[in-house]
This record gives sequence, structure tokens and C-alpha cells, in this order.
Amino acid sequence: MTGTGPLELLGIDHLLTDDERDIQAGVRDFVDRRVRPHIADWYERGDLDLALMREAGSFGLLGMHLTGYGCAGTNAVSYGLACLELEAGDSGVRSMVSVQGSLAMYAIWKFGREDQKEAWLPRMAVGEAIGCFGLTEPDFGSNPAGMRTRAKPDGDGWLLNGTKTWITNGSVADIAVVWAQTDDGIKGFLVPARTEGFTSRTIHHKLSLRASVTAELILQDVRLPADAVLGEVTGLRGPLSCLNEARFGIVFGALGAARDCLETAIAYAGTREVFDRPLAAYQLTQAKLADMTLELQKGFLLALHLGRLKDDHRLEPRQVSLGKLNNVREALAIARECRTILGASGITTEYPVLRHANNLESVLTYEGTSEVHQLVIGQALTGENAFS
Ligand SMILES: Cc1cc2nc3c(=O)[nH]c(=O)nc-3n(C[C@H](O)[C@H](O)[C@H](O)COP(=O)(O)OP(=O)(O)OC[C@H]3O[C@@H](n4cnc5c(N)ncnc54)[C@H](O)[C@@H]3O)c2cc1C
Repeated sequence: MTGTGPLELLGIDHLLTDDERDIQAGVRDFVDRRVRPHIADWYERGDLDLALMREAGSFGLLGMHLTGYGCAGTNAVSYGLACLELEAGDSGVRSMVSVQGSLAMYAIWKFGREDQKEAWLPRMAVGEAIGCFGLTEPDFGSNPAGMRTRAKPDGDGWLLNGTKTWITNGSVADIAVVWAQTDDGIKGFLVPARTEGFTSRTIHHKLSLRASVTAELILQDVRLPADAVLGEVTGLRGPLSCLNEARFGIVFGALGAARDCLETAIAYAGTREVFDRPLAAYQLTQAKLADMTLELQKGFLLALHLGRLKDDHRLEPRQVSLGKLNNVREALAIARECRTILGASGITTEYPVLRHANNLESVLTYEGTSEVHQLVIGQALTGENAFS
């Protein structure tokens, strides 16, 4: 007999290995202890307890699917399941871990020299050093090829000028991976936050992803040594392959937010009485719950399929686009529908549903908007490039 939770009815759990189930349960417990009791407060304050980064590091969550340099070296499915549980707590917490591991650490791990890896990865894996990933600019989000940040040769090194915006962890980072145009094409640079000419400004007044640090990075005549460049890659292939890693985490992660909303709505509907009967006893409510559970489980099967492909080294970027497009879109629809079940109570921070829905608006936009992923899939289907 399978369980009756919204992710249990199909018994998909049986498709996971014991190790994967153990990792998922461990992260769920971590989130129950360290995130759930505080998240409403962090969200209202527009803040995140940065001690969480070190704790996530001690737990092996930072760069967990990378090998060597103190990283846990788990398979991709385990990493996905960890993202799911973290995002069941809050998308901001999952973002903190994703940006550290899949964007900043992955860029260094994949494209850095040995000395760069030794200098940064072990400290980042334990959360002692925080990383950020600067690609987006005020005038170039979906089209990063147009970026204006420029790195010019300067004596033995480089001179960087430009502005990056919407950068997660930007104003708390010790090290920024900054992508810039050079005479040879786009290259990545490691910019320690204490470098002269590098400043950051936290972006306030967000209505989404409030329990996450988002910032602008300003680079004004930043002088870097020759060895600051990530030498193993030139062109957009560099940042896009990092984004692909983070998008994979989102394919699983968004489902965590949706599951948390559904579990909340089912519990609420069971105790809330309307017209003298529990809300859960009405057909309209049950139809909503059944349809949402269907989408959640379909999304999980999709995520798991992509995870198995990734572990088999066969996952293609356009397949990740399919997963991100579907799972974030469905998670957002589920969060909004759950909010209707909670009525007025659903708009407060006492329940997680509107917080998740608001967060998922950012998740829909970052790491490639839904429209960008539709264009990727459209191009794969038709051979026509409709981006420009
Ligand atoms: C909370 C948060 C955290 C973030 N963290 C990071 C980070 O850590 N690092 C980083 O580099 N960036 C980060 N971003 C930036 C994010 O990646 C960009 O916001 C995203 O790429 C979209 O860019 P944009 O906001 O400039 O929108 P735009 O590119 O201006 O797009 C606006 C609209 O136009 C649509 N559109 C764009 N091109 C086309 C087209 N060809 N055809 C049809 N429609 C199109 C888009 O889909 C969107 O609906 C973050 C964003 C948020 C909100």
C-alpha cells in the first residue's frame, strides 16, 4: 500500500535508491529544524540567516554533486532531491545553495585552473567563503550576449568595468564569478569582493524571494592579475553550461514548493469547516486537490527521468528547458490554487502558500524565463531560431 501524501500516491519513491531516499530524508529534517521555524520571519524582514550557509556546508549540501575539493560527490538525482527539500522550505534557501554550488563553484570546478580550484572550492564547500555569479546586466537579461561589462588587457593583467544586477548572494559574497566581454569573446573572471573598485548594493523592496540576498555589482576600474581569468572557456558556452546545472536543480526544487503548498492545503481543508462540513468533503475541493496532485507527480516523474539522464551523462540542455518550463509553471499554478483553498488565511505568512507563489514568480524568471525555454524547445522542434 502506498502512502497518501501528494507525492506518494504513485509510489514513485520506489524508483529511488536507498541512498537517494536517505539523502532526501536528511535534507528534509535539516529544513524542518533550521528553516521552517524561522522562514516566515526571515521573509517578512527580507533577510536570511547567513549562518545557514555554513550549516548547509557542514551538511554537505554545497557543490554536493561535484567531486573532489571537499565536495560530497553525490549523483545528480540526490542533488535534485536535496533541492526539492530545500525549496519546500523556501525558494530563497534553495537559491542560496544553488548559486553557491551550481553557479559559482561549478564555474570554478569546470573552467578553473588547479590553483584556482584549490584556492576557492574547499572553502566554498564548507560555506566559509560565499560565491556569487554575475551574468545579468541592467540592459541584458535574456540576451547576455549583448553584455557591456568589459575586460581589457592591462599590463600583465586585466581591467574590468561594468555593472551586473539581480545577483543572488551578491552583497554577501567573498568571491564573484563575473562574465565580461574581451577582445577574444566572453570570459569568466574571479573577482574577490575586497578588490579595489568592486562594490555591491543590496536590492530592497522585493515582493518575491525576500529570504534571499539580491544585489547589484559595480565594477569600476577593477584591476585583476592575469591569473584571475577562468582560462578553460571562451564564449557564452561558459555561463550557459553553469546555468544548465542550476536549472536542473530548479526542475526538482520547484516541486518542493508545490508539495509544501499541497500538504498545507490538504491539512487546512481537513479542519476548516464551511457550510457545516469540512472543506475537504466538497467535490470542488477534491477536484482541485486531485488535479494538483496529478501535476505534481507528473512533474516528479519528469524530474527523475532528467536526473537519470544526467547521471548517465546524456542530458541535453533542451531537455532541461522542458523540465524547467513545465515544473516551474505547474508549481506556480499549484501554489496559486492552494492559496484559494486557504481563503483569506492564505494571504498571510502564517501559511507558506502565498510566500511560495511569490517566490516562484522569480523562479519563473531567473535561469531563463519561461518564454526563453519555449523558444529553446521551439527551435529544437522546428529548426527555426525565433529569439531575434
Ligand atoms: C530574485 C532574482 C535572482 C537572480 N539571480 C541572478 C544571479 O544570481 N545571477 C545572474 O546573473 N542573474 C540573476 N537573476 C537575473 C535573471 O537571470 C534575469 O532576470 C532573467 O534572465 C531575465 O532577464 P530580465 O529580467 O532582464 O528580463 P528581460 O530579458 O528584459 O525579459 C523581459 C520579458 O521579455 C521576454 N523575452 C525576452 N526575450 C524574448 C524573445 N526573444 N521573445 C519573446 N519574449 C522575450 C522574457 O521572457 C520576459 O518575459 C536573478 C533574477 C531574480 C529576479
